[in-house]
Amino acid sequence: MKEVHCVICSKKVTNDEVAMNVKVLGKQLGTIRCYDCLASVMSCSKTKLIELSEYYKSSGCNLFKINYL
Ligand SMILES: [Zn+2]
Repeated sequence: MKEVHCVICSKKVTNDEVAMNVKVLGKQLGTIRCYDCLASVMSCSKTKLIELSEYYKSSGCNLFKINYL
C-alpha cells in the first residue's frame, strides 16, 4: 500500500479523497489534494465534500470503488 500526500499541505490522503479528486478534477493523480485543500480550491466546505463523496459512493460511482492507494 503506497501513501499519497496532499500536494498543498502534505497531509496523508485517504482513498476517498483521491477518488474525490479524480471525480471533480479529472485523472491528475500528480496533484491530489486533501478535503481541506480541495474545498478551498472549489470554494466550498470540507463538510460538503465529505457529503458529496458519501453520495457518490452510495450511488455506486465506479471512481469510488477503485483502490488508488
Ligand atoms: Zn491539503
